[in-house]
Amino acid sequence: SSPQAQALGYYHDATKVDLVKWPRKGTEEGKTQLCSNCQLLLNRGKSVPGMSGEWGQCAIFPAGLVNVNGWCNSWVLKQGA
Ligand code: SF4
Repeated sequence: SSPQAQALGYYHDATKVDLVKWPRKGTEEGKTQLCSNCQLLLNRGKSVPGMSGEWGQCAIFPAGLVNVNGWCNSWVLKQGA
C-alpha cells in the first residue's frame, strides 16, 4: 500500500491486477509474470504475520515484502527461468 508500490502497480495477488490501468499484465507474456519468476525477487520463503502465503524481498521495494504470487509493472524475467 506504499505510494511507491501503488505507482508501480504492485498487487499482492497477481490475479487482481487492474488490466485497464496495467495492460502489460494482460498480454500473453504478462499472464505468466509473477513475483516468483521475477529477477528482482531476492529472498523468498518469508511469512508475514496476519497474511497468508509466501513472501520475499524485492530489490525495488526495500521497505517491505512482496507476495510470491504478486506482480508489478517493473517485472523482469528471472535469469534461467
Ligand atoms: Fe514482484 Fe518483480 Fe515487481 Fe518486485 S519487481 S514487486 S519481485 S514483479
